[in-house]
Amino acid sequence: MERTKRDFFSRPAAEQQEFLTQTWCDKCQQPDLGMTDPTEYAEGEKVLIEGKCCRCGEVVATELID
Ligand SMILES: [Zn+2]
Repeated sequence: MERTKRDFFSRPAAEQQEFLTQTWCDKCQQPDLGMTDPTEYAEGEKVLIEGKCCRCGEVVATELID
């Protein structure tokens, strides 16, 4: 499916902070480890924020339902 890049940094700071801290890492199997290098994109009906786990560096993604 096609991905359309969006500007994560145009979100309000408080919202950015929330997305950067409220994560789930599949590798660590733990919530809220945080992510770095966030990028946001739309894929079909979904909006995803993808970054790297603060602990292990694996890709973590948060899916938003609009
Ligand atoms: Zn991790």
